[in-house]
Amino acid sequence: MGSTGNPHVALIAFPFSTHAAPLFSLTAALAAAAPSATFSFINSARSNASLARAISAVPSGANIRVYDISDGCPEGYVLPVHDPEEEVRLFLEVAAVNIREAMEKAVEGAGGKRISCIVSDAFIWFAGKMAEEMRVPWVPLWTGGPYSLAAHMYTDFLRLKFGEQATPSRLSEPLDCIPYMSGLQVRELPEGIVFGNSNSVFARLVHSMAKELPHATTVALNTFHGLDPAVDADLDTKFKHSLSIGPLHLITPQPPQPADSYGCIQWLDKQDPATVVYISFGTIMSLPPPEAAALAEGLEASGVPFIWSLKAAGQAYLPSGFLERTGGRGLVVPWVPQLKVLNHSAVGAFVTHCGWNSVMESVTGGVPMICRPFLGDQRLNAGVVSRVWKIGAGFEGGIVTQGAAEKALSLVLKEDGGKAMRERIGKLREMALGATKPGGSSRNNLEALVEVICGY
Ligand code: UDP
Repeated sequence: MGSTGNPHVALIAFPFSTHAAPLFSLTAALAAAAPSATFSFINSARSNASLARAISAVPSGANIRVYDISDGCPEGYVLPVHDPEEEVRLFLEVAAVNIREAMEKAVEGAGGKRISCIVSDAFIWFAGKMAEEMRVPWVPLWTGGPYSLAAHMYTDFLRLKFGEQATPSRLSEPLDCIPYMSGLQVRELPEGIVFGNSNSVFARLVHSMAKELPHATTVALNTFHGLDPAVDADLDTKFKHSLSIGPLHLITPQPPQPADSYGCIQWLDKQDPATVVYISFGTIMSLPPPEAAALAEGLEASGVPFIWSLKAAGQAYLPSGFLERTGGRGLVVPWVPQLKVLNHSAVGAFVTHCGWNSVMESVTGGVPMICRPFLGDQRLNAGVVSRVWKIGAGFEGGIVTQGAAEKALSLVLKEDGGKAMRERIGKLREMALGATKPGGSSRNNLEALVEVICGY
């Protein structure tokens, strides 16, 4: 266990997409709760650079040290644009050696204080093996949602039932072999479980993770008690110990946000309550150009005010004259202070790809979602949002057409169905706020996590 009084915790990030930021926020929360412990945060140089704002907010002399490791990409190597897995493969190929080296440096940097616990992103599943060799606790953090975690934990079981390549006719079957997933369909599972490439870098990574997590000392989850008791109860049976400490963005210190350079909040201040739709597909995904054009046409025809987070490259696909025609009642900007926007009373709907951070942020803003998932855990999150928790809807036919956009906007913003969603998500919001207040379940679980990690 952690050496009481003098712990040294190594935290190992998964340096892709939005993974490293929540682990760094958790590091900051742990470091504040355990001032006499040392926290060594290990991440690729590139990913650490993207956390510069959060890292520079750590007071000098604080008990957090940040270590860079290589992302495994040979100098001058140009990553293939059409193979997003290549950079993950390159990182993983050398990650174990690089992480061990960084841990040695961290021990040196901490005056010889040996590492007493490893906290890692759950994707860094081999940290479990390292912790075992070092005879220290391993605490993986699962930054995604509980349903996708459950789906990965059931990979072998699902493959027995459907095979590694389910026949097309089975994709529309309900997932009723896992009772609380009976409202979801096989096609909504992350690819690589029973369809898609089960041998991809990512599919092999999460499969190994699912085998390793049951050995973890404690699995930390970005969810909160009450959101979905059935999945929580099931996950409890899969792990030695788990703690729900979410929503992480409410319980961990958030880095200073970039200024609202495009005036989103000022603009929202002038709108009526619950009338605006906010649109974002996260940091990686973008709508295929025909769908972006269809969404623009749907917005124009519906007359709904909107804020659209859309990079310049995506703006090129908007119908000609769209920005001028909708200028008065819409903002199209390359970056939106999403947390603030979702907490603004004028926002009544969120068109989202259902990345887990966006789902949690929508829940804590009390804003119903209109889901356009693409890949990975997004389909499952979207299915849960719209058919299990009933706090959102999809686009008819699963893709954005002008008609589907008009219908979905009308349902969520103007009809009784949308009102019911708003009431349900409002209750979840209250639960999330309650869980993260002093004395709330996530707050207490964070204290319990400090005890697991630091031994006090
Ligand atoms: N985000 C933001 N402004 C934007 C677009 C995205 O602040 O204009 C943030 C959003 O608040 C969320 C994150 O980017 O925290 C996206 O994370 P998510 O898990 O939803 O999707 P991913 O980017 O990992 O696909």
